Amino acid sequence: MLFQKEPLVAIVGGGIAGLAAAWFLQHARISYVLLEENDYLGGLIQTSYVDGMTIEFGADGFITRKTEASDLVKQLGLQEELITLNETDERIYILSDGKLHPLPEGLQLLVPTRIWPFIKSKLLSRKGKFSVLLDIFAKSKVSADDESLASFVRRKFGDEMLKKLAEPLLAGVYNADSEKLIILATFPQYRELKEENGSLIRGMRSKTKNKKLEFNAKSQLISFKGGMSTLIDGLREKLDGNIILNASVVQIQNNGDYMKVKTSSGDECF
Ligand SMILES: Cc1cc2nc3c(=O)[nH]c(=O)nc-3n(C[C@H](O)[C@H](O)[C@H](O)COP(=O)(O)OP(=O)(O)OC[C@H]3O[C@@H](n4cnc5c(N)ncnc54)[C@H](O)[C@@H]3O)c2cc1C
Repeated sequence: MLFQKEPLVAIVGGGIAGLAAAWFLQHARISYVLLEENDYLGGLIQTSYVDGMTIEFGADGFITRKTEASDLVKQLGLQEELITLNETDERIYILSDGKLHPLPEGLQLLVPTRIWPFIKSKLLSRKGKFSVLLDIFAKSKVSADDESLASFVRRKFGDEMLKKLAEPLLAGVYNADSEKLIILATFPQYRELKEENGSLIRGMRSKTKNKKLEFNAKSQLISFKGGMSTLIDGLREKLDGNIILNASVVQIQNNGDYMKVKTSSGDECF
């Protein structure tokens, strides 16, 4: 494939990141070509409908605390399609040692804000709970250089908290290895709490008391009546640039006057 002068930007991949990039380029009036190796868009976001049920293969919602997705929804005019979490059963359970354990009441994004329910919970061992609660006495407000989510949780709360709660609850959101997720890029609010208060537990308790931050899961996670594909379809409908499916990119060259995109099919002109 050979593009003379335009488009100026090649986007590799038609998942939500690629589609959102195309949307912002379109707004900035910058030409683009989006190349996707599959014969469909959406990447990890795929919704299917079986026997009246909506089934998600990947993401089943997004959080409102980070406003980019909500802003995109507004720009696409999809607000009417939004739904909040089902209110019939809001409890989250963790499978550990063959048993289902409800999350301790008052747990706000990993941080226990109610001490007694946390102590009573059987999810963590006594030693594990002790390591977490020691944070109450933490004083240092100094942060280390940026570090992984795993390193941060291990340092603040211990290894058991990392394995039993942080990995399923936090790394699960990104479906990624907690050793590779960078804390400042994924959960910067922990660092803010630590830098303001020294202790995450004391910080979170005072934040929730003052209702300065809404860490309540119910208000954070939203989706669409028709599933997350609504977002992909909404974007697809509004994008008027060049979108090419079945194009697995193996090389891109900027040759000054033109851009050369080589795909795995190889037969397209290079
Ligand atoms: C089971 C599961 C549950 C999840 N739940 C949530 C959730 O509830 N909330 C949430 O916010 N996130 C969730 N996530 C994470 C979220 O789905 C992803 O972070 C997000 O969809 C990633 O989008 P992306 O565009 O970066 O990547 P992808 O969706 O992976 O898209 C990348 C695209 O690039 C294409 N591609 C790759 N290489 C090439 C190439 N060489 N040439 C052309 N095309 C190429 C791929 O085919 C793909 O379509 C979940 C993920 C999974 C797997």
